[in-house]
Amino acid sequence: MAKQPLIQAIRGMHDILPETSPLWHKVEGIIKSVLDSYGYQEIRLPVVEKTELFKRSIGEVTDIVEKEMYTFDDRNGDSLTLRPEGTAGCLRACLEHGLLHNQVHRLWYMGPMFRHERPQKGRYRQFYQLGIETYGMAGPDIDAEIILLSHRLWKKLGILPDLELQLNTLGTLAERLLYREKLVAYFNQHLDELDEDSLRRLETNPLRILDSKNPAMQSMLKNAPALMDSLGEDSLNHFNTLTGLLDELGVAYVINPRLVRGLDYYGKTVFEWVTDKLGAQGTICAGGRYDGLIEQLGGKNNYAIGFALGMERLLALVEQQEDFRPDAGVDVYVINVGENAARFAMKVSETLRDEVPGLKVVLHCGGGSFKSQFKKADKSGAEFGVIIGEDEAEHKLVSLKPLRSDDEQKNMSLEQLTTTLRQWKQS
Ligand code: ATP
Ligand code: MG
Repeated sequence: MAKQPLIQAIRGMHDILPETSPLWHKVEGIIKSVLDSYGYQEIRLPVVEKTELFKRSIGEVTDIVEKEMYTFDDRNGDSLTLRPEGTAGCLRACLEHGLLHNQVHRLWYMGPMFRHERPQKGRYRQFYQLGIETYGMAGPDIDAEIILLSHRLWKKLGILPDLELQLNTLGTLAERLLYREKLVAYFNQHLDELDEDSLRRLETNPLRILDSKNPAMQSMLKNAPALMDSLGEDSLNHFNTLTGLLDELGVAYVINPRLVRGLDYYGKTVFEWVTDKLGAQGTICAGGRYDGLIEQLGGKNNYAIGFALGMERLLALVEQQEDFRPDAGVDVYVINVGENAARFAMKVSETLRDEVPGLKVVLHCGGGSFKSQFKKADKSGAEFGVIIGEDEAEHKLVSLKPLRSDDEQKNMSLEQLTTTLRQWKQS
């Protein structure tokens, strides 16, 4: 164990070290190719916003706003908050730049989010999310599209069999208010069965009680009235069309009437992709429709649906796949001993980068014996060593040595080297 530095990272905020970044790159690459294939565009947003934005959008009585936000006064005395999620900032930006006026958008962003939670596996204080947000489409076709997009992503990552799609509808605000009354009446008949958290929520956010994981409350919750029974025709049609589309396209789902989501701004479609392979932190991706938030932030009546995907949880699941290996960081390690050899080796490396598209070349810098350089070449994971001594340098030759097989080492010209490596790279 290395000696600890004087100052260490903040609890729950983790470093992503060079040995893990290839896995991130591979997963991010797959995510981007899937997003491209649906025509989604990237939006990059500030990490800090005015505190008021989150209070207004996420809702005062949610876990996030009540206890998880990193809020501070800046030097002007304005209250700012490190973004705990991306939906509010994305919508703020689109409203501010007039992107919602008679337009349709399919957007994505990726970056760190901050929540002051109790750190544990799959739960951090700084974590990364991929978010997608779409605007201007009433659904349910776009609702189906974003679910299909996520479904395609799991397939490409090989984790579809580990995930279950849970689906629910929250109806409209009016329907939810009606339901809320029925629910509060039901809970009032079962006050002695509610835990402390739920008693508090009974006043503030009774729907969230349905989300409780407390085993003692489960049978009481099972018998609670279902929101589905309070829905009007429009909401029911929306939901039934969505499930019809999913059926037709072969996307399996389970309807979970107790899926209410932690945030206030959802209505109609809500969904989560969950796994039982990651212990308690099993929700990988969560989303839903939030038409109402647009007016809440001062925009005109419009439509919005999106999801957020927790990157650390996704990676933890992907890592369990035996055959999902990140690409090697290095193809060729250029070993050189002697002054002229070092000069020639630099030229060789540059030529390889010019001539062989995509080839990853590491030039050994800083001298040292052949033996010590071979060790580094081996450790780098490179497929080949290119060996240059003073002799080779003088005759403008190199030696190509396969490092991962017993094939023979061969002397060749620089031209032969580029041809050989180009063929290997293409194969
Ligand atoms: P949870 O119920 O696990 O607290 P949440 O409902 O607060 O999740 P969302 O706000 O919906 O989570 O965020 C979307 C996704 O982001 C989650 O499904 C999860 O994958 C990820 N996520 C949320 N909070 C964290 C965290 N503290 N650390 C790592 N990932 C997180
Ligand atoms: Mg949470």
